[in-house]
Amino acid sequence: MTNAVPQDNNKRMRATRTPVTVQNSFHLTEATFYVDEAGLFSKDVYRRVRRKLCGVPGCECQMPYAIAQAEDLGGFRRLPEDMRQKLGLIRFPNIKYAEDNA
Ligand SMILES: [Zn+2]
Repeated sequence: MTNAVPQDNNKRMRATRTPVTVQNSFHLTEATFYVDEAGLFSKDVYRRVRRKLCGVPGCECQMPYAIAQAEDLGGFRRLPEDMRQKLGLIRFPNIKYAEDNA
């Protein structure tokens, strides 16, 4: 079985992808995005998810935990550790990503 993922994503992210849905109970908004085996997702996805959950500049609503606590790795964001475990994600710390050399 092949995964229909965009070519450029294939280059940067591993094939196994896990959907994560986050909700902002203040705005009653919801966003679903995909992370790889290491719990990584791109900064572009991070921005898009943030915008979808709350597009109000200076808003004091609380971003969902998965987004508010996502680790900043430059070109990528990583889900909080406990969340990665909850999703059954395995960490592969030695994987190199394109942005590692940026
Ligand atoms: Zn807001």
